Amino acid sequence: MAYIGRFAPSPTGPLHAGSLVAALASWLDARAQGGRWLVRIEDVDTPRCPPGTDRLILDQLARCGLLPDEAPLWQSARTERYAEVLEQLKLQGWAYPCGCSRKDIAALAAAPHERHGELVYPGTCRDGLHGKQARAWRLLTTADQAHTQPLSIDWHDRRLGAQRQCLSTAVGDFVLKRADGLWAYQLAVVVDDADQGITDIVRGEDLADNTPRQIRLQQLLGLPLLRSLHTPLVLGADGEKLSKQNGAAALDLSSPEEALRQAAMHLGLTLQARGLPELLSEAVAAWPAQLKRWHDAAH
Ligand code: GLU
Repeated sequence: MAYIGRFAPSPTGPLHAGSLVAALASWLDARAQGGRWLVRIEDVDTPRCPPGTDRLILDQLARCGLLPDEAPLWQSARTERYAEVLEQLKLQGWAYPCGCSRKDIAALAAAPHERHGELVYPGTCRDGLHGKQARAWRLLTTADQAHTQPLSIDWHDRRLGAQRQCLSTAVGDFVLKRADGLWAYQLAVVVDDADQGITDIVRGEDLADNTPRQIRLQQLLGLPLLRSLHTPLVLGADGEKLSKQNGAAALDLSSPEEALRQAAMHLGLTLQARGLPELLSEAVAAWPAQLKRWHDAAH
């Protein structure tokens, strides 16, 4: 199958050193396999996306010589498509409305457990809204619609190796459409990957544990499963992963060559070449050997 990869930044801020690593890795993997590389602007959470940041990111990528093979796709233009897919999941009986606020969830769960600061939803509205107004839509994460069987998802990552997550207990019924009417990342990403014909996901390791949710949606919607490769995270001086949320500094592009050299180093590639095109070609040539090192380390 022809390879189609993508880089899918959320334009909540300009690229930082960590996002360049993910962008470079997805570009390298596509180029090394003679595939296509697309860029998708994941601006579903519009209020968190300052105007102009999308253009800034595309410009940062272009300065690094990372040019998409097609015009970028904006998720904010795709809401009708997401609504269609939610409709499908409702008809199938896998999506249900939820009337719980955060406070309700915290109060209802005997011992609410948190996961990345988010409460695991105890499933209160699975059997109906109990007179409450529908706020959000959630996906049932049990194996059966009577919700008696927990559901574990097994998957394989090209760098991390064999992975397993019990979706029902580790994640719980997750949101597809938020109470504020915005579309959730999980739904949007699955629909767009399928509609764009993406075959390979290459992104930062912080997103790895979203994969089982995305696989579940692909299974229920009859969409192809994708190969995945999650790249090492770039940590700040405090040992925390760099993120736009914790105010990581925008990428220093005074020398795009230097920024790329650093990003490549983080991916295990020590590059010697001078000049941007030369550097990128050297990285493409070196990529398969790095993939093999990761593969060997995980298996
Ligand atoms: N938009 C997500 C982010 O910037 C990445 C989505 C993905 O690669 O699946 O964190």
